[in-house]
Amino acid sequence: MSRELYFDNAGSTPLLPEALERFGELAQIAYANSSSGHAVGKRAKGELEALRRTLGMCVGVPPEGVVFTAGATESNNTVLRRFAQSRVLLSATEHPSVYETALVLRERGVKVELLPVSREGSVDPAVLREHLKQPADLVSIMTVNNETGVRNPIELLAQVVRDHGGGALFHTDTAQSVSPAMWPQELEGIDFLTLSAHKFHGPKGVGALLMPKPRKFAPLLTGGGQEGGLRSGTSPVPLIGAMVCALERTLEGRGAAFTQRCDLFWETLLARTPGLSFTTTAPGAPWIKNFAFLGLRGDAFARALEGEGLHVSTGSACAGQKGGLSRVLKAMGCDPQRGHIRMSLSHLLSLNDLERALKIVPETYERYALV
Ligand code: PLP
Repeated sequence: MSRELYFDNAGSTPLLPEALERFGELAQIAYANSSSGHAVGKRAKGELEALRRTLGMCVGVPPEGVVFTAGATESNNTVLRRFAQSRVLLSATEHPSVYETALVLRERGVKVELLPVSREGSVDPAVLREHLKQPADLVSIMTVNNETGVRNPIELLAQVVRDHGGGALFHTDTAQSVSPAMWPQELEGIDFLTLSAHKFHGPKGVGALLMPKPRKFAPLLTGGGQEGGLRSGTSPVPLIGAMVCALERTLEGRGAAFTQRCDLFWETLLARTPGLSFTTTAPGAPWIKNFAFLGLRGDAFARALEGEGLHVSTGSACAGQKGGLSRVLKAMGCDPQRGHIRMSLSHLLSLNDLERALKIVPETYERYALV
């Protein structure tokens, strides 16, 4: 049987074998509760704090600013629920863990305003500046969008908040931004970032809230007071170890050679499938692309590709089912007559995997599209 062609790495990524190995190692040596006072507990605590330092170094945040969480949903909820008080600004294309949380806060009286995005899918710093003419406590704009791969000019946006925000805090969801080129190049002006291990070949159920300038807040989860009182719950040292290992490896794996490989793949794909075009050509994560096409619904195309062993996504499962545009694509003003799919690559895909996909996509489109 041929290898599964998994091209949905923005949805989640396969666990790296080295990360799994690291999990096993730490499960053997750091099995005690890292809050226990005995020697075995202290050993686990030692590992935990070493992992915090390594992760902090990888992302440019001091260890005291690294709070381990269950993933980006928890990190995003923490920032919004603790720091959005009277007025919060967010981009119209945020992930549901930001967008839906903001809607809950709106019901509690917080003013929530959506920053429109351009046709290409990014927030214009001038638009943000305009919205900051009235005071806000929090601005939340993702670095890389999960449906389109578009990268917001996060350094410029952070500068706008710093210079014109009147003290507003700035949060950026960096769940899809783990690569040397996509990570914010400058953390000055960024107060919070969020990480999710399963987006970079780590395990599911672990992530982090990052604070370049560490600060205190009332935890969402109360209990034993772990994570410096910011997030209770026994620290999952082996999961964290696997995450840190995956982070280091993926930062290496998503370098310039991977970008070149992705660019060549997309270019060849478009050349071989004339009915397909990029939904946006804005700069973004080289491994995530959203495609638009006529004559076929996104969910139907994804199912047809699946029939050939190629797993892609419509970008947003709920919208895809109804054949309509997702909230993100609507915010970009995309044409509802077109179908959309998202394909997302991994540095673990072989040349043979890519070659097979380059055959399946054009053949399947030609067979099913009514154009
Ligand atoms: N933010 C973005 C941009 C995402 O793509 C995802 C993934 O689904 C999340 C947040 C949620 O991450 P997690 O699955 O770790 O809760």
